[in-house]
Amino acid sequence: MDGQTVPPRSAATELAGLLDSPEIGRLIAELDETRWTGRPGYPLRAMVGVVLAKSLYSIPTWTRTVALVREHHALREAIGGECPSVYAAYRFAAKLRAYSDLLDGCIARVLDRLHREKPEFGRDLAIDASDLPAYANGQRYLSKNGPERKRYSDPDASWGHRSAVSTRKGGGFYGYKVHAAVCARTDLPVAWQVESARAHESSFATGLLDAAKDRGFAAETTALDMGYDTEAIHAACEARDSRPIIPLKQTPGVKRGEHRPPNCKHGGWTFSGSDPNRGASKWRCPTGECRPGSLWVKADRLHPLVPRESKRWKSLYRGRGAVEREFGRLKHEWALLPLRVRGIERVRLHADLTILAKLACALSRARAVPLAA
Ligand SMILES: [Zn+2]
Repeated sequence: MDGQTVPPRSAATELAGLLDSPEIGRLIAELDETRWTGRPGYPLRAMVGVVLAKSLYSIPTWTRTVALVREHHALREAIGGECPSVYAAYRFAAKLRAYSDLLDGCIARVLDRLHREKPEFGRDLAIDASDLPAYANGQRYLSKNGPERKRYSDPDASWGHRSAVSTRKGGGFYGYKVHAAVCARTDLPVAWQVESARAHESSFATGLLDAAKDRGFAAETTALDMGYDTEAIHAACEARDSRPIIPLKQTPGVKRGEHRPPNCKHGGWTFSGSDPNRGASKWRCPTGECRPGSLWVKADRLHPLVPRESKRWKSLYRGRGAVEREFGRLKHEWALLPLRVRGIERVRLHADLTILAKLACALSRARAVPLAA
């Protein structure tokens, strides 16, 4: 290593930097204009500061976040000198739900600024869903071989299915799912949605692409796992000018071999490029002896514009890992889990605040790194 390295900043310095950033600063100013002050009148910088500290320190509850800020001098200074009460934190969370448009605006500003710092941000997206077990008793039966539970402490949650991953057994869980579109190059989320666990993931892919587009991300490609391999999702991606990168599900058409490239007596035809405007890919006779020697194949699930056999497809599909890595980081390093709130609106706010804290930190780091000469 040559030159000097940037010294690690303390979380308190980082928190003060976030509160001073124009994106978060405007949220504080806009909330101020609503003329709401948390009883007994804590400044909004302190309220937003506690919210961000909760994610920065990966703390699941307001009680413990407030306790930490209260006894941590540097943190208290960072948020303006005074630590709000736990009760004020709860009331502020309720206020943020009521002013969700202001929070959405803040998230959009942070994403937009990150996009300008990192032009490659959001060019290739990866979409997936992940389980968020509810803050509720997840035992489906009241007793061994007993009747199924009828009342849950979080009635907005529902039973969903979790797939087996490495050593973890798959199966049912009670709770929510977070559906997200994540940038495959930076691993940062650009759009997300929390739904009850029973809702199937494939219903949300299109909405995530639209939300990403609304935030200024025109994804050139979108990678999804086999669970999303439907004609509708391929068409939805293409309609938004994003090439779908999805492994092939063994449907009856696939078993009949309808996904194979054209062929002739000279062998299987070779891919020679796609034309998104035409919505078709071009294939050639391997020896060029056939007349006509090439053929346009209309794009669909069986014949995507980026063919599944191509190197480009394989490399883009590897990018799908970004969304799983990001779910893991949000859950384990940013306290997206364990959920300590009930009801879908509170879980949604929790996810928004967690992801906002993560994105705002990424932005402050992007700003701190001077552009390479
Ligand atoms: Zn031929």
